[in-house]
Amino acid sequence: MHIGFIGLGNMGAPMARNLLGARHRLSVFDLSQAAVKGLVEAGANAVHSVTDIAHSDVELIITMLPAASHVRQVYLGDSGLLSSVAPSVRLIDSSTIDPMSAREVAAIASKQGNPMLDAPVSGGTGGAEAGTLTFMVGGDTADYDAALSVLQSMGKNIVHCGPAGNGQVAKVANNMLLAISMIGVSEAMSLGVSLGMDAKVLAGIINTSSGRCWSSDTYNPYPGVIEGAPASRNYTGGFGTDLMLKDLGLATEAAKQQKQPVILGALAQQLYQTFSSQGHGTMDFSAIIKMYSGEDQ
Ligand code: NAD
Repeated sequence: MHIGFIGLGNMGAPMARNLLGARHRLSVFDLSQAAVKGLVEAGANAVHSVTDIAHSDVELIITMLPAASHVRQVYLGDSGLLSSVAPSVRLIDSSTIDPMSAREVAAIASKQGNPMLDAPVSGGTGGAEAGTLTFMVGGDTADYDAALSVLQSMGKNIVHCGPAGNGQVAKVANNMLLAISMIGVSEAMSLGVSLGMDAKVLAGIINTSSGRCWSSDTYNPYPGVIEGAPASRNYTGGFGTDLMLKDLGLATEAAKQQKQPVILGALAQQLYQTFSSQGHGTMDFSAIIKMYSGEDQ
């Protein structure tokens, strides 16, 4: 299939490479020339603007952009995709954005005959490179079915979450819970260690008891508890604090619009905001344990 791909950053570039690996023909665009060059070297065709992607004979366009403002600009801007794309070209936005924006763009697209899915991902850059991402997909069932094989070239767990916007709903709800559970594990580990427990023994108890969760048994924030976790390499790599802060902002904003209380989610957002403002935005999000245990833990 001839696919257009816009947004070749940390996630988009490896996703696009996996599409090439699955023998799709790819036309790519990014504001960064360096990002485009990398994909051209891998076999993609470079185009010079969003409009050029829309004017090429693609059957599907995938976008992987930083935030809702970029998605709005690329789809709804004066020279945006929807102003020039041919009817029936399918659209997939894999950026993580708020569900309301996803629904608004999808409604405008489908009204003019371009079926659109929101398909945010989890799995990070490692999952993007390995082609093992989880895709949380919102949109019509027929459009989901039509896109499934392409998504399977980039991910291994593809879940249809319901109508447009529901992929983003699943993503923000999961990541809000992840932030809350990471803070909870940080608090419990710090309390136990401060009271004299060995961190590994405490984690072992938690992980065979009712406190067990992914943040404790796979990604424990206490250094040295889990070999290979970011906590054991000074919180480098992994999922950055600022990305988690972005997702918490999406969750709390969506909750506000829905008048749905997210008491712990709002607290988590404030804790991550404080941590980021202290200069830790690029550290893995499990470094939030430093809010409890101090810098030199
Ligand atoms: P990134 O900043 O590395 O890449 C975004 C790319 O979009 C950049 O190359 C940028 O030049 C390009 N871009 C921005 N505006 C553009 C425009 N108008 N036209 C063309 N290109 C444009 O971001 P990323 O880490 O790849 O993340 C992309 C999305 O995936 C975000 O929404 C993020 O929240 C989400 N996400 C990221 C991760 C992760 O671990 N990085 C994990 C899951 C989800």
